[in-house]
Amino acid sequence: MQTSSKTPLILGNWKMNGSLADNLGWVTRARHQLEKQPVHHVTLGVCPPFPYLQSLRQILPAQIALGAQDVSSECVGAYTGETSAAMLKELQCRYVLVGHSERRARLAETDGDVARKFRLAKHAGLTPVLCVGESQTERDNNETTQVITQQLQAVFELCGPEGFHAGVIAYEPIWAIGTGRTASPSDIEAVHGAIFEWLGKHQIPEASVHVLYGGSVKAENSADIFALEGVDGGLIGGASLNAGSFIDIARSANQTAQLAEPLAFARKSL
Ligand code: PEP
Repeated sequence: MQTSSKTPLILGNWKMNGSLADNLGWVTRARHQLEKQPVHHVTLGVCPPFPYLQSLRQILPAQIALGAQDVSSECVGAYTGETSAAMLKELQCRYVLVGHSERRARLAETDGDVARKFRLAKHAGLTPVLCVGESQTERDNNETTQVITQQLQAVFELCGPEGFHAGVIAYEPIWAIGTGRTASPSDIEAVHGAIFEWLGKHQIPEASVHVLYGGSVKAENSADIFALEGVDGGLIGGASLNAGSFIDIARSANQTAQLAEPLAFARKSL
């Protein structure tokens, strides 16, 4: 595993925030920022609440893809309140988060539920973003790798290695989400390294999977995080609600990618 030479992926998770008016303001500011100074070589997406998917798909700048925050583990039928993968596809979503820790904890989503969501999203042609991460207690008990491996394994058992092809995994330590605490650089590199090791053991090519870091990433710390080994971008919660911060974070990913490019070239020619 090396400093990433993949196009970084920056995804915003707006959670249950916003309003029609807020969204319009966000889009206006993001568009202005991107026009003033384009951000190349970064893939961007936002995951707004479900009710806003329809309107946002019509007004988001073309460079910012649409994503959803969840998807049903069922295909179709009597599941009140659920949203199917096919519906998300119809709304031109490209990404969907599955297994976010807030849903695992508050709504008791199991690894099995998450794996079913992942499979249906994949079958519908969406890119599921598999969120994995340990709690503070699990970290204190040295169970981080075991927890993450179990979360990955559940998806692997249902979807096989091809399920991860062109996939996205977001490592989000639960204790770092929305707390202002980020994992230390060595912790991030260690967990991303463990994820890539797991992928290798399961014959999943490293180059075909983006592994993002999420947990209190903001414009002030993003460049340092994206420069770490094995970090292919970020899943951004709170800081993505501000269009200026979100674009600044994207800019820092772009700068890191540009620095990594000559390194990747030098490695190829060795
Ligand atoms: C998240 O919930 O996915 C997240 C990363 O949140 P925050 O950036 O606010 O910690």
